[in-house]
Amino acid sequence: MKLDAAIIGAGPSGAWAAYLLAQQGARVRLFDPSHPREKPCGGGVTGRALAVVSRALSAADFPTVRIRTARFVDTAARGEDTAPTSESGHGSAILLAADALVVASRAAFDGALLAAACRAGAELVAARVRQLGGHAGAFQIETADGGQHTASHLVGADGANSFVRRTLASAFRRDQLSIATGFFAHGITSDEIVIELMCDPPGYLWSFPRPDHLAIGICAQADAGVDAAALRSRVRDWIGRVGFTGYSRVEPYSWPIPSLSGADFETLDVSREGWYLLGDAAGLVDPITREGIYFALQSAQYAADALLGGSTRASHDYADRVRTEIVEDLVRAARIKAAFFRPRFSRLLVSALAESEPIREVMADLVAGTQSYRTLRWRLAKTMEVGVAWRFVRSLWSGLDR
Ligand SMILES: Cc1cc2nc3c(=O)[nH]c(=O)nc-3n(C[C@H](O)[C@H](O)[C@H](O)COP(=O)(O)OP(=O)(O)OC[C@H]3O[C@@H](n4cnc5c(N)ncnc54)[C@H](O)[C@@H]3O)c2cc1C
Repeated sequence: MKLDAAIIGAGPSGAWAAYLLAQQGARVRLFDPSHPREKPCGGGVTGRALAVVSRALSAADFPTVRIRTARFVDTAARGEDTAPTSESGHGSAILLAADALVVASRAAFDGALLAAACRAGAELVAARVRQLGGHAGAFQIETADGGQHTASHLVGADGANSFVRRTLASAFRRDQLSIATGFFAHGITSDEIVIELMCDPPGYLWSFPRPDHLAIGICAQADAGVDAAALRSRVRDWIGRVGFTGYSRVEPYSWPIPSLSGADFETLDVSREGWYLLGDAAGLVDPITREGIYFALQSAQYAADALLGGSTRASHDYADRVRTEIVEDLVRAARIKAAFFRPRFSRLLVSALAESEPIREVMADLVAGTQSYRTLRWRLAKTMEVGVAWRFVRSLWSGLDR
């Protein structure tokens, strides 16, 4: 019998799962009323994320900015009178490899993935799912326009506020989410990303350039005691301190990002009999960098492999693979996250980047997602930058066993 799947959500995870399944002849219905649309996001697509989807699309298929440098600034420590502009060279810039990172609008990137899925044979049902019932082999899906559908397999790819997760597992708690908020600044661009780590609340500010605007934002844990409006006003101040000028208008945005602790990751429920959670709906986001697109695509690949494998243990196979290939490294990130945003570390980072080429290389790979947390400590030690590397290791891992 033909494999049939209902995929709720056509962001990167849902569209990519739909592409892979439809290409192998499965009957795929992809539910999402939102396209074409922008999604609040930096839009940073790492080389490793592009590699996952390379059989269907390349960076040439949608407008991108190729990022040449990542600049780490410390404007809070400098004070406003010495305020740098990114163009004037303040902070520490690191050169990124040619294929490390592109930035795209999510309207363009997600639209290209969705088009690939539809070309492969997936059917887009442009309606919001509002009710789910049934069980493996016979799920019932009801849409907001009254449509009734059934499917043997159910894939929840519906993002951080996932309805599928809320219905079949449980919603993320506030302490499991970050608030990410800021502005799209239209009419200016660059080939540099700018990042500033902050300690209160722990998190960071960023500017990611798309072809015709900058996505400027801030993220911090949702239970840190600072609301979205206060965070956004910090972004306004930061825009002034960093010296971004020349934009024609700003457009505000806010959206949650799953940001789980080590303990949350260790007990993560991503799949049961017949249903699968992908990407943000599964909680698969790096809790330090907040990179999520790569994990969204990777989890889509694993779910498609499990479903196409046809085993009666497909949902266990998926959960096992997510645990070993994704979650184990994200647990390591979660463990050092608190130390990463301490003032001691962010000062050390900016000065180490100015002083040391080997440390710049490690950081460039961390930004590109090619440096795992598993080998980070070992790689820092191997730089032979004995003094700096040792201070890095001590500030990130002191008190932890590994
Ligand atoms: C401000 C911000 C900046 C970020 N920056 C980056 C970055 O630079 N790089 C990076 O890798 N990651 C970044 N992330 C994380 C990244 O955006 C997510 O990890 C990624 O979008 C997850 O993809 P997804 O397919 O799982 O979910 P989503 O992209 O959230 O897609 C979910 C889809 O489900 C649909 N949907 C929701 N509910 C329903 C329903 N009931 N019925 C039908 N459809 C539904 C929505 O319309 C949406 O299209 C950022 C996140 C934020 C908030």
